[in-house]
Amino acid sequence: GFRTGIVGLPNVGKSTLFNALTKTAAAQAANFPFCTIEPNVGDVAVPDARLERLAGIAKSARTIPTRMTFVDIAGLVKGASKGEGLGNQFLANIRECDAIAHVLRCFEDDDVTHVSGKVDPVDDAETIETELMISDLESIEKRLQNLTRKVRGGDKEAIQQERLLKTAQAALEGGKPARSVEVDADDAKAWEMLQLLTSKPILYVCNVSEDEAGTGNAHSRAVEEMAAAQGAGTVVISAKIEEEISQLDAEEAAEFLETLGLDEAGLDRLIRAGYELLGLQTFFTVGPKEARAWTVPGGVAAPQAAGVIHGDFERAFIRAETISYDDYVALGGEQGAKDAGKMRAEGKAYKVADGDVLHFLHGA
Ligand code: GDP
Repeated sequence: GFRTGIVGLPNVGKSTLFNALTKTAAAQAANFPFCTIEPNVGDVAVPDARLERLAGIAKSARTIPTRMTFVDIAGLVKGASKGEGLGNQFLANIRECDAIAHVLRCFEDDDVTHVSGKVDPVDDAETIETELMISDLESIEKRLQNLTRKVRGGDKEAIQQERLLKTAQAALEGGKPARSVEVDADDAKAWEMLQLLTSKPILYVCNVSEDEAGTGNAHSRAVEEMAAAQGAGTVVISAKIEEEISQLDAEEAAEFLETLGLDEAGLDRLIRAGYELLGLQTFFTVGPKEARAWTVPGGVAAPQAAGVIHGDFERAFIRAETISYDDYVALGGEQGAKDAGKMRAEGKAYKVADGDVLHFLHGA
């Protein structure tokens, strides 16, 4: 599945947030109990009100949300890129993630030590980013050396890789992360294969104190300004509040949120922001037995979407009966949509749209 790595300096609230994410009722929703793959890896349900809506219309017996994975990557500190033992392991963990949620301490609390002695989230963000940039530069140098022979031999792939690595190197040497590089469509795949740490999409998570969860504070606003300049996203959250909410059932949680003047749990915003950051979209399969949400990369073609359900469906794909979410709801379900001529038969070239209700016909 798609993985978002939670990174940040020590004592910023990563574990608090991760525990809240994986303990919350939503994470354990439906018929898929929360599963701990490894102690620091959690699989959480992606909250989506559309799923309940579709299930209500179709009178589905159950709903199955789609899920995404969060990884708690603890232990990133200044000097991690120097590769002293564990440092490298953390960087390797980040390499395996598709996106980064960078938790920044925006709360003041004299009882919680700050590693650099003061609360300065923009400075903290730079500290971590610098480690990732140094690590990228080192791995680029190694890889360039390893490519020399192949490049001399005229290997087309190696020549492309070398060109992209040099572009990234120039950006990094100029103090910019690899994600600042604009890549042609022809190079997109090869660029992604380079797996540079600083090319991964990033989301800043501002951990503010309990009484500032709704409003944010001067620290979180400074982060928002920095993020906007980088084209990155921001979510303001109080890890402490989320931890408390995760202990409550849905009704109690709603009441608690109301007393705090919040209309949605911060975790729901965080999960959705992670989902958007990864460029993911959702399609639905809806029937009397179950209504289910599925995750696909944005712009995926119908056969590949079928393949997410079952590999055979992709190989033996015939067509996809397609109803847009809005039509499905407005016309009262499948039959209504069919009668109104809003059920389309889409072929192999169809690009699935977010919210599509799909029924795959296949020869498998
Ligand atoms: P990690 O090292 O980044 O995983 O940080 P932890 O989640 O272990 O949190 C470090 C300490 O900060 C713990 O004692 C938490 O209870 C505390 N903490 C986390 N979030 C908040 C917060 O929003 N407000 C306050 N006052 N303390 C927090």
